[in-house]
Amino acid sequence: MLTLEDLAKYPFSVEAQSYVKSRGLTVEELSSPEHQEVLKRALERVEEALNKALVSVKLDRLDVEIFSYPVAVLMVSLSGDKIITSRFAEAEAKRAFSLLREESPDKLLSLASGTFNWDVKRARLNVGYRIYEFSVRWEDYLKVALGFKSPHWKLINRVLVSGRVYLQRHELARMMAEAIRERLLEKASAAPQLSEPPQPVREGVERILELAKTRVSKKPLPIVEAAVKSSEEAYPPCIKTLLEEALAGKQLPHMARFTLASFMLSIGKSIEEVIEVFRRLPDFDERKTLYHVKHIAGEIGAKTRYTPPNCETLRTFNLCVAPDSLCQRIKHPLSYYKRALRGGASS
Ligand code: SF4
Repeated sequence: MLTLEDLAKYPFSVEAQSYVKSRGLTVEELSSPEHQEVLKRALERVEEALNKALVSVKLDRLDVEIFSYPVAVLMVSLSGDKIITSRFAEAEAKRAFSLLREESPDKLLSLASGTFNWDVKRARLNVGYRIYEFSVRWEDYLKVALGFKSPHWKLINRVLVSGRVYLQRHELARMMAEAIRERLLEKASAAPQLSEPPQPVREGVERILELAKTRVSKKPLPIVEAAVKSSEEAYPPCIKTLLEEALAGKQLPHMARFTLASFMLSIGKSIEEVIEVFRRLPDFDERKTLYHVKHIAGEIGAKTRYTPPNCETLRTFNLCVAPDSLCQRIKHPLSYYKRALRGGASS
């Protein structure tokens, strides 16, 4: 059973949609002064998406948070702009993920099955340091996981028993966030069923279109983005998995943290870039992390610059995940990276 606060946290849920419907608010009524706050927050949601790539969570006025979601979707849809739509969908998905990954298993289960209609069940399975708390029918899993690029999500790399894929809690949250993103893309890309939106809505749309123009021009050149992306694509599967888990806010054991940090530093990432990745971990402590990363970088302590462990060591720590064909020809994650950059991953 979801509370009113839950509906504000998860305005994409079927329960929140029914609540909005039951209150019978029409688009025309958005012009009235009593709904000004809803319009304001809706606009803010889109602006945050464009400016910060993340929509905040505001739970001081629950109704405003609930109603502003469909209004923001309407504005994005009326803008007819693909970049606004994709940034908004991405930012709302991130907002949802930040809440879902902290959610109780029962609520996650209820949202996953009620809103997405997935066949999800509670489970209890430990493999190495990973705790699988859920299982999902493989067809439902693939509907979302096919959109993920990391080998971590490939069906052959998953624990699959009797047609059910086992998931850690943050993985189920990540799947739900991705499903929200896809739904929003679909919804906001569809032509709005509205001939003449009220004046305040039109003004809001004009404002986000104007904002998008300035934000888009500040984007890094596509060539730079492509270079960053291709360098990450050359990461070995074990490092891709660790990076993905860190960015998903998963608790990582010490050896996993050391491997990820030493790998990133070894390929030329800065201490700040490593800290940014570790910032997502649930127990992040800036001072301690800075100390450890500086230590690994050889800036303090014994002044030894550490490299990541070799594949054999990573295997003994259960950190060798989903090795691919290139893995068979190397003995160290850094060798994998160098070869993959030269184009050896596909051979
Ligand atoms: S074989 Fe080595 S590089 Fe490949 S996934 Fe395993 S540990 Fe990583």
